[in-house]
Amino acid sequence: MSISSEEAGSRPGLKPDLKGFLPDEMSEFLVSMGEPSYRGTQVFSWVHQKCAASFDEMTNLPVALRRKLAEVARITNLEVLSRRSGTEGTVKYLLGLGDGNSVEAVRMKYTYGMSACVSTQVGCKMACAFCASGAGGFVRNLSPGEIVDQVLKMNLDLSQAPQEQSRVARVGWVVLMGTGEPLDNYGASVKALRILNAREGLNLSFRRMTVSTCGLVPGIRRLAEEGIPVTLSISLHAPTDELRDEIMPINRRYPIPEVMEAASFYAGRTGRRVTFEYALIRDVNDGPAQARKLSELLRGMLAHVNLIPLNPVAEKGYQRPSRERVMRFFAILRQARIPVTIRRELGLDIDAACGQLRRRYCR
Ligand code: SAH
Repeated sequence: MSISSEEAGSRPGLKPDLKGFLPDEMSEFLVSMGEPSYRGTQVFSWVHQKCAASFDEMTNLPVALRRKLAEVARITNLEVLSRRSGTEGTVKYLLGLGDGNSVEAVRMKYTYGMSACVSTQVGCKMACAFCASGAGGFVRNLSPGEIVDQVLKMNLDLSQAPQEQSRVARVGWVVLMGTGEPLDNYGASVKALRILNAREGLNLSFRRMTVSTCGLVPGIRRLAEEGIPVTLSISLHAPTDELRDEIMPINRRYPIPEVMEAASFYAGRTGRRVTFEYALIRDVNDGPAQARKLSELLRGMLAHVNLIPLNPVAEKGYQRPSRERVMRFFAILRQARIPVTIRRELGLDIDAACGQLRRRYCR
């Protein structure tokens, strides 16, 4: 489970994907074709601001250049295989990749704007006991363009939905919390975030982006030094190594004390409060003693706990606790003055972002 190489997801034999270029790379590419560098900015804007999926759409480029570009480059273009609307403005997409694989992404509506929960891998290596994503094993990393395109497809969809247009017409927040482990596809994930941040494109602030990890310690430390102030979210789910070993195999490699040290390092370097995700699983990690242990673990840290009542995955046998038990756990953390929230349970009605839609579809 090492951190994969920088050029994660790039497949040999394919023409370069313009959706995976940073603005500078785009300009360099155009210059290498004998064009002025402003053409790069134009193409970048077509791809990201206008969601162009083909060179033909780029009407302010000379026809000869459009033809030439089509010969030497491609633009990743995910296909919407299914789109399901849930309650409260949640929409779940199943998106087809060029090689026949598919990934899922979820759009969520909050009072503060539209958030995109996107995938970074097809499948996952981490094999957390309660999660559907790892159940089918790992298939491959996504490329930067494939990660970015999940957001672009949501924007395209939003631009075509007149009733929503007047309110929030674009994705304003991005969380790498779909299928896959972003820090196991480090290069592509970080590059995708930089592309989404580019002024010439969507211009999303890093402060509106979240990287969620099961706790790959070297990746957390590397991200702390990356110079991009994204929110780090650590999927903790257990307050002791004994329990975490059981439900998250990655803990045997990077146990809780190492994860906590890396989290403090991240908070120190970036000044950003780290979020700890804690999925409450009935009779596994949801007891009052565990809530007290969790409070002890986080005392004095620049941290925030997000409690998620489990989305039960049929084959796994784990259950969601009662509302009372969730509230009791919450109250204990509150009393210990640990900042804590309970996640709004978006998407339960449409098999939320835990690998469930893809698995249903692939059967
Ligand atoms: N690999 C990354 C990001 C993808 S998982 C990570 O581990 O953080 C996104 C979040 O969903 C994680 O917090 C994960 O633990 C959680 N999750 C997975 N299966 C779940 C389920 N059945 N119910 C609730 N949360 C789940």
